[in-house]
Amino acid sequence: MILPETFIFAKTLFMIFTDTHTHLNSEQFDEDRAAMIKRAIKAGVTRMFVPSVDSEYTESMFQVAEAFPEHVHLMMGVHPTHIKENYKEELAMAREWLETGKFVAVGEIGIDLYWDDTYINEQKDAFRTQVQWAKELKLPINIHCRNAFKEVFAILEEEQSPELFGIFHCFTGTLQDAKKAIGYNLKLGIGGVATFKNGKIDKFLAEIPLAHIVLETDAPYLAPTPFRGKRNESMYTVQVAEKLATIYQKPLDEIAAITTQNSKDIYGV
Ligand SMILES: [Zn+2]
Repeated sequence: MILPETFIFAKTLFMIFTDTHTHLNSEQFDEDRAAMIKRAIKAGVTRMFVPSVDSEYTESMFQVAEAFPEHVHLMMGVHPTHIKENYKEELAMAREWLETGKFVAVGEIGIDLYWDDTYINEQKDAFRTQVQWAKELKLPINIHCRNAFKEVFAILEEEQSPELFGIFHCFTGTLQDAKKAIGYNLKLGIGGVATFKNGKIDKFLAEIPLAHIVLETDAPYLAPTPFRGKRNESMYTVQVAEKLATIYQKPLDEIAAITTQNSKDIYGV
């Protein structure tokens, strides 16, 4: 049997891919984390950016970055699905970490009304606060938005400024939403959803110039076709890039080069 990565290693030789959003410290990688990261690097996915969830995940995030200092970069922030009664304490800890200057972005932050809207007001407050920090600290933001385009855009509209920039992670909106996000200096994080039959964004993506696109996996979630439903990992950034090569009618190496440059423009590394 030939393993899928064997194909990837051969065709991505000398290419550099950037996974702009990957939870390398997830418990789902506890059994094989180092091997999984090495596979990604071997496949050309040599740049990986890990979003923060809440203070319980900070230690594990640092461990991954220490093990792969040349390949792994960290963000800091409080994830919207982890905003609850104690969110002010969580925010205070995140702010303290941000002051250390060890992080390339404020993320992932945003609003998620898919699972639970109990803390909608707290989520809005936390998102706005963290957007303001990013502007103050001159860092990009990494936005998580699920069932909450209206709420997220309302805050971006109020907070927009030349200092506000970043990535709209796991973008799943309409063409109109995409243009709106770009208007706020945001790049669109495109991942496995673009490869899904019912994912919809592949229908209009070609109308958005590649200058506004970055790649991501959101591993261990949302594995691209043909791995849909299985555990996702950073190596599969290549599958997302291949889908974009088809959509944009461009060679894979050009997709890799442009999206990697876009990620450097945002994260500064
Ligand atoms: Zn995420």
